[in-house]
Formats: sequence, structure tokens, C-alpha cells
Amino acid sequence: MKIETEINSVDRILLAEVSEGFLPDEVFDIHAHVMEPSSYAPTTLGAHLNGWTISPARYREAMELVLPGRRLTGALFFPFPARDHDRSAINRWMYEELAKQPASFHARGLALVSPTDDPRPLEEAMADGRCVGLKTYHYYTGRADTSQVAVEEFTPEWMWRLCHQHGAILMIHLMRDAAVSDPENRDSLLRLSERYPNCQVILAHVARSFNHRTARGLRALAHRPNIYVDTSAIAESENIRLALEVLGPQRVLYGSDYPISHVRGRCVTVGDQMLWLYAEENKAPAMTLVAIESLIALRFACTQLGLRTKEVRGIFRDNALAVLGLYHR
Ligand SMILES: [Zn+2]
Repeated sequence: MKIETEINSVDRILLAEVSEGFLPDEVFDIHAHVMEPSSYAPTTLGAHLNGWTISPARYREAMELVLPGRRLTGALFFPFPARDHDRSAINRWMYEELAKQPASFHARGLALVSPTDDPRPLEEAMADGRCVGLKTYHYYTGRADTSQVAVEEFTPEWMWRLCHQHGAILMIHLMRDAAVSDPENRDSLLRLSERYPNCQVILAHVARSFNHRTARGLRALAHRPNIYVDTSAIAESENIRLALEVLGPQRVLYGSDYPISHVRGRCVTVGDQMLWLYAEENKAPAMTLVAIESLIALRFACTQLGLRTKEVRGIFRDNALAVLGLYHR
């Protein structure tokens, strides 16, 4: 697995096909990672990320490859999660990096947070605008196997309350096999999103429906206006289409998941599970980047539903600006 820094002729052809007549002039990315290796414990990052510094500037350069001729107007950044790292240091580094960005680029950040972290510095960062919400992750539950953890285990109630108080974003990567179709996950999301209605919940990767069949659980959340999904790293159209139908186009937001976006491969549904395929492991060099597969899936879903230009513009920019309070419909 490798993070690509160049694109090839296959990528160019596919990008040209998917962009023409679909990709709007301006794009806001709601799901982008930054990273500064000195805050990470050795061996906690995969070999493909070892030693990498991903600054907002490096990210912008990389995104130019997959958004040909389009203007990236901003991004919502958060540090890449790992099992063992100094979260307060990496959050501080991110705030400093975001402050260096030009005013013409809307650079916003989410603090990476564990259930045992002290809420006070996070609250201060929200109050003075250094961060606009929280990014939680299953690694921080302290268990060796985190595949089946419940929402509250890594996103306890104090995080919801804090985001509610500040009208902030809570970015959640669901766990458990059935993700949003899991009854316990569904009940947690319903209960907490109702109790904290100013908390803007973004369920990453179309509610982590890498197995697209699990996306059907979104139906139960459709009436909660503060629940959104991002499309990051999703390379199948069925789950995106379902999200567009069930939540409506205004609650679906484009995300890249950089640097995962620049891996050659994709995740597919097989039976009742998901399966990541990578070019190197499968000896399939003609695979394209996750970012390009994701755009193709998004276009297919939008076309199938006959979305209007304004709605597509919303997915790629305006919905994100509205969630961040940078744009009023
Ligand atoms: Zn991510």
C-alpha cells in the first residue's frame, strides 16, 4: 500500500470522464487528515505513512492531482488517528498549521479526542475558534480488539454535550459489523442526537458503509436533522444513493479522506462484509486511486437520481459551508 504522489494515464482518463459535466468549479473537503510524525509512537503508523508530515499545504498540493482544474475552497482537517500518540501535541500542531493558511482557503480543524482526555483544552480551542469540533476514534477505548465497540465507548456523552454547547461538529467513524444497521449503534445515535440537537454529527464514510448493504440503517436516522454523512473513501454508489434518497442531498458531504484517497485500490462489498483491495497486494497496477473511484461512485449515484446542478454543488461545497456556519442558504 502506497500513497501516490503522481497520477498515471489510467487515472487521467478516468478523471477526465468523471469530471466533465459533473465536478463543480469549487470543492470543499469535509474529511481530510493532517499528520506530524513526532507526535506518534514508533510503529503505530503503517509503513506507507512512516515519516510523513502531512501539512495543509502538502494536502492541497496532493488534491490538485484529483480535482483537475477545480478550486479547493477549504477543508475540514483532523489528525490521522493512531493507537498511541500525543493527541494534545498533534492537535496544537494542527491549530498552528491552520492559522498559517491564507484567508481565501477555509481551513478548519477538528481536535482528535479520546474518552479519557481532559475536556478543558478542547473547550478553550472551540471557544476561541481554533477547532470547530471533535474527531473520535475507536482506538481510544483501550481494548485490543475495537471492532465491535459501541458509540458511547469512544464517543461518550461529554463530547456530545460539548459539541452541542458550541454548535460544533462531531465526526464519528462507526464500529460493529453492521455499522449504522446495528441496533445498538442506531439507538445510541438516535438518543444522543436528539438530546444534543446543536451537535452536528457527521457519520464518516456514509456511516462507515464500506459494506454498502449496511447503509440501509440510515433510514432510521432520517428524521434527525443534525445527522449528516460524508462520502470519503466510499467507492460504491449504492450506499451514496441511499444516503441521498433517505437524508436528502443537503445532508451528504464530499470528503476525500486524504491520504487514503491517494492509495491505489478500493473497498468493495462481498457477501456480508467489506474487503479492501490494494494494487500492490493484488498485483493489479491498473487500479486507480480511491479518490477517483469515489468520484465515479458519487457521479453514478447523483446521475441515477437525476440530481440538479445546485444539489451537486451542495454536496461538493455548500452543504459543508452551511454545516460550518460559513454560508447561509
Ligand atoms: Zn479518515
